[in-house]
Amino acid sequence: MNIVLLGPPGTGKGTQAERLQKVLNVPHISTGDIFRKLAEEKDELGVMAKEKYWGQGKLVPDEITNKLVEKRLAKDDVRKGFILDGYPRTIEQAKALDKIMKKSGKKIDYVIEIQSSDEVIIKRLAARRICKTCGKVYGLDVPPKHDNKCDIDGSELYQREDDKEEVVRERLMVYRQQTLPLIDYYNKKGILRPVNGEEPIDVILENIVKLVNGKV
Ligand code: AMP
Ligand code: ZN
Repeated sequence: MNIVLLGPPGTGKGTQAERLQKVLNVPHISTGDIFRKLAEEKDELGVMAKEKYWGQGKLVPDEITNKLVEKRLAKDDVRKGFILDGYPRTIEQAKALDKIMKKSGKKIDYVIEIQSSDEVIIKRLAARRICKTCGKVYGLDVPPKHDNKCDIDGSELYQREDDKEEVVRERLMVYRQQTLPLIDYYNKKGILRPVNGEEPIDVILENIVKLVNGKV
């Protein structure tokens, strides 16, 4: 089962992908996580991508992103499938993904579009906090039990730099200009499946699971 999660930032793609990977037993691949990890490790390309692109809410160029994804999808653990979160984000990337899939004799089964209004997105991103130690994501739907501390390990929570308001506005604009055209692209292929991203997390997950199991 090869799945793409599509939708604006802050719709809970990452949260759903985390849960879905346990249900479907296939890896969750987030290009955003890959870029953040590379920057943290002080990898040259990773630091450059942060300084020039994602730190400012801009997309990392297609060529760089496509190469990273191709490399990731060549690993053994995707044989039974994968959940792509945050990729593709441009038509160029979608075409590159088609090529990667074709080369390995596979296809994308479903593109799940998680829909949400700007109002809700801005509120959710403003509230999103992440654990410094384990990376668990907290937010409006999953508040920490104690203020600014992780439920699991008690570590302090931080806000993603690109979740600050000015950067969020840029990211939403970029989404509209560069990523929205993908909805039409995948709709024409007949694999687009919209879900309402404003429902409770568990309900969204249930709806996605029903969709990918062909029960809707
Ligand atoms: P995300 O965690 O998916 O919101 O991604 C964080 C940032 O990483 C984005 O704002 C982009 O700058 C960069 N990024 C993630 N995925 C892609 C992609 N498919 N293409 C270009 N840039 C990306
Ligand atoms: Zn933690």
